[in-house]
Amino acid sequence: MIFNLEEDSAPSSTLPNHPKGALYFLSWFCPELVREVLLERGWEEYDEKEQEEEDWNLYWRGSAFCKSEYHNLLPWQRLNHHPKTAGITRKDCLARNLRRMKATFGSALYDFSPIAFILPNDYTRFLDEYNKLRLTRGPSVYWICKPVDLSRGRGIFIFEDIKDLVYDCSVIVQRYISSPLLISGYKFDLRIYVCVKSFHPLTVYIHQEGLVRFATEKYSLSSLKNLYAHLTNTSINKFGPFYKTQKERVGQGCKWTLSKFRHFLHSQDINQLLLWQRINNIVTLTLLTIAPSVPSCPNCVELFGFDILIDVKFKPWLLEVNYSPALTLDCQADVTVKKSLISDLIDLMNYTSTDRLRERAYQKHGHKQPCLHADQPSHVPIPVLPKAKQSKFQKKTRIYKPPANLPQDKETASSHSRIIKKCCLIHSGSHRPVIIPLEGTTAVNGQHVPPLRVGDFIRTFPFNTATLEASQHKLDVKIIIQELHKLTAQLADWRTDPENKWHQSYGES
Ligand code: ADP
Repeated sequence: MIFNLEEDSAPSSTLPNHPKGALYFLSWFCPELVREVLLERGWEEYDEKEQEEEDWNLYWRGSAFCKSEYHNLLPWQRLNHHPKTAGITRKDCLARNLRRMKATFGSALYDFSPIAFILPNDYTRFLDEYNKLRLTRGPSVYWICKPVDLSRGRGIFIFEDIKDLVYDCSVIVQRYISSPLLISGYKFDLRIYVCVKSFHPLTVYIHQEGLVRFATEKYSLSSLKNLYAHLTNTSINKFGPFYKTQKERVGQGCKWTLSKFRHFLHSQDINQLLLWQRINNIVTLTLLTIAPSVPSCPNCVELFGFDILIDVKFKPWLLEVNYSPALTLDCQADVTVKKSLISDLIDLMNYTSTDRLRERAYQKHGHKQPCLHADQPSHVPIPVLPKAKQSKFQKKTRIYKPPANLPQDKETASSHSRIIKKCCLIHSGSHRPVIIPLEGTTAVNGQHVPPLRVGDFIRTFPFNTATLEASQHKLDVKIIIQELHKLTAQLADWRTDPENKWHQSYGES
């Protein structure tokens, strides 16, 4: 069943391209693509000679902000990183956090990341597991070794025999998914773009468009050293001898858009519903590992890149979560995906005319006005960053006290009045998001309901009334996990349905 979501979409929050009052972004460290998109939308580069210190609206950069930069942000100012998200974006922290969640909530839900050991600390545990698997399965178990704080495939190698494990820095050794799904013999993984609009309450969007990243040589376990066959990083494959070659079905280069991948699955008569819902679950469950400990910062929005590998049984595995996913444009697929991704992200940041009237509002009220962050009630008992020294940009700011009679922004008000359906959203084989109604439809009076869709970003959390309520005040991870259990059980029933093509074609793990 496919529903047209247009009527459920958020009203466009995009301001006209050439506004009277300008929106300003700080151009230091701003990636070229972001700069280009902002300029196209009528934004201007902040110029410290021309503008007041507090006049900027967006500070975007690839690296982390320091504590002082989070403090006393003015209501019209946004940062593109939430504080303290290394818990999922550093390989060792992610492994540790997922292990903790598995121990607390059971391995039935947290079964989506390959077992991992942080070396040198976990060496003995790794040795036990290695020996156990050698005894039970023989030598055909493979491992991948990755330096914990490197990216883009640097320093990675695959091994079968422990004598080949040599490292001189902190690494994680992870079970290698040795039977990946292949397209014409080529390995690939998915880059899924996830926007965390807010951690308090947890509000998550997944972009419908993303990338499929291919290895450029055919997959074979007899050549573990051939990184062009085993790693799907573009930064590696674009230097491979077959990058420019027309490869069977894959084509030139090493990337597809997610739409092309969906078309491909569709052409193979594969029902994709379960796959996309499982990926949604992976994203939610991963974010839940850090959500309670991320300090509240209503002015922040973050784009993460989730790397997902699908195995031959069609099970998706989380490989890693990227902080500041690459925004370089290497090929046409990058241009198609990343430009609209950034544009949709700016829409999600929800700038309105209030953000342009910064000076007037400031003078009139003599204090900061909340911009749009009805999603963060001030009484919520969550970690808040400790006070830090004022930065260059915050010298003139004062403590925020919201005026009691603050008029509600029209867009926010209209989205408040929307009725949330008990539903979850998943990608369909036909490019349109599908709503799976869960149980009935209940209005959630007085609670802020974030829009279901902004551009191609689709809200995946909260996904029903129970998860909306469980994320409103103190994040209730237990309730959310229960809801995910229910959802997974429904999917399991669906999976055993003899009509299901996926079941017929691929079996199940
Ligand atoms: P990096 O941050 O260096 O990109 P990743 O963890 O993303 O590190 O790994 C790089 C690539 O290695 C992945 O894109 C994927 O192709 C491959 N890879 C990583 N971990 C595994 C694994 N456990 N099983 C199979 N392939 C993997």
